[in-house]
Amino acid sequence: MGILIHFLIPLLLANFCSGSTNIRCSVPSSWLSGNPTIQRSTSSSGHVPYVSGINFYNTYLWTKWPKGKVTYKLDATLTAADIIEVRKAFNEYHTKTCIQFLPWEQGDVDFVNIERNDSVCGVAHVCKIGGYQFAQFGGNCRTMSTMVHELGHSLCLGHEHQREDRDEHLTYSSCHQTPSKDTHNWVTKGIYDYRSIMHYWCDANNACLGGRPTQSNVNNCGGAVTTGLSVMDVDGINSLYNCQGCTRHRWRPAQSLTQADRENLYNFGYYSQNGAPLYPCRAASRGEVSAGTFDDATKSCKISHGQDLVTITDNVEVLTIPGSLNWFCYKYELVSRAAASPRTAIPAGSSNWDKWVGYIAYASKSGTGGVTERSIGKVWTWTHSSFGYSADMPAASGNFFPSEYQVLSCHLDSQCMSMFG
Ligand SMILES: [Zn+2]
Repeated sequence: MGILIHFLIPLLLANFCSGSTNIRCSVPSSWLSGNPTIQRSTSSSGHVPYVSGINFYNTYLWTKWPKGKVTYKLDATLTAADIIEVRKAFNEYHTKTCIQFLPWEQGDVDFVNIERNDSVCGVAHVCKIGGYQFAQFGGNCRTMSTMVHELGHSLCLGHEHQREDRDEHLTYSSCHQTPSKDTHNWVTKGIYDYRSIMHYWCDANNACLGGRPTQSNVNNCGGAVTTGLSVMDVDGINSLYNCQGCTRHRWRPAQSLTQADRENLYNFGYYSQNGAPLYPCRAASRGEVSAGTFDDATKSCKISHGQDLVTITDNVEVLTIPGSLNWFCYKYELVSRAAASPRTAIPAGSSNWDKWVGYIAYASKSGTGGVTERSIGKVWTWTHSSFGYSADMPAASGNFFPSEYQVLSCHLDSQCMSMFG
C-alpha cells in the first residue's frame, strides 16, 4: 500500500496542479474560487434550501439555472483533447444528477462559454450571472476533474475548504497560504466532505491551499481522491436543483427532521427487536462517511466500522424519499445482493481510502434463542462494478458481515411506463 501511495500521489499532483507553472497552487485563492466580486446577478428571487455538505452561494443574490438546464458554448481555444475532457465532465453530471448541459442555440441569451486559458488552472463565474459567462481551464489542469470543479461553480457551488466551519476539519498551521473562510452569503451545513470535487487538495507541496485534514484516516482531499463528483456533491446538487426521479431522495439532518421529512421515511419492513421501524442514516467515522441504523430516540447513527460498533451523534443525516416509493414509475425498493447493481443502488458515502463508495445494505442476523436482529449498514464497492461478498452491518449483539443482504435501489419501472403508453 505504501508503494501505491508514493506512486499515485505525485502522478495525480503532476496531472492536476504542478509542472513548471503550478498555476493552481500559485494564483490567488480569490481567482480559484471564482472571484465573487466579478459576478453580479440582478435577480433577487428564490431562497436558500438546505443542502447537505455543500456550500453554495445564496440564491437571493445568485441565480441558479432554471430546471438545471445549462446552455454552453465550446470556445475555439479548446483543442480536440480538451473537448473530450469537457464532455466527460458533462457526462459526470448527466449520469449522476438532473443537470443538463445543452449546446447554445440561436436566441439563447445566458450561456457558459467553455474556454482554455493557460494563465489559470481553472476559474469560473459562480451561478448564472446573465448573458455571457465562462468556465476556463488551462495549463496542466485541462482535465475532466478540473472542468467538473469549474462547472460546479457555474451551478453555484462554492469551495468546501472555505466553509465557515472548516477550521474544525482542516489545519493550515504549516501552510504558506490560507484561503479565506466564506462567511458571507454561504450556507454551511451537513457532514464535512473531504472528498468533494469542490475541495482543494490537502497537500499541494508549496501552497497548501487545501489545508491538512484533522480527522484521522483522511490523507487527502478533493481531486486527489475524487476524479468526479463525490457522493455528497451529487446529493447536494440534486437537492439544490430539486432533482426528481431516482435522484429525489434527500439526506436530512437528524436534529431537525420536520413532519414532512418524517412522512418521507420508509422502513421496508425492517423493525428493531423492540418494534421500532428502522431507517437509514449516515455519518462520518474516522474518515469514512457511511450508512448505518438510525436511532430516533437519541438522534444517533449506529455504524459498523470494521469490528467496532460506532454510535455517532454529530451531523447525523437520515434518508428521506419524497413523493412516495413509486413516483411516476421511479421506484425505490430493496434488491437482493445477486440482483443489485451499483448503477441503480443509492450511495450513502465514501470510504477513507481511494475511490470506494458505500451503498445502503439491509440484513438480518439470527441471534440466540431464535431472536432475529435486523440492521441497516453498508456495502462498499467501486462505482459501476458489482457488489462484494459481504456487507458491513452494525448490531447490538456484535457487528456482522453477511453475504446475504439487500441493497436500496431505484429504477425506472418499464412495466409501469408501458401503462402510460
Ligand atoms: Zn474553485
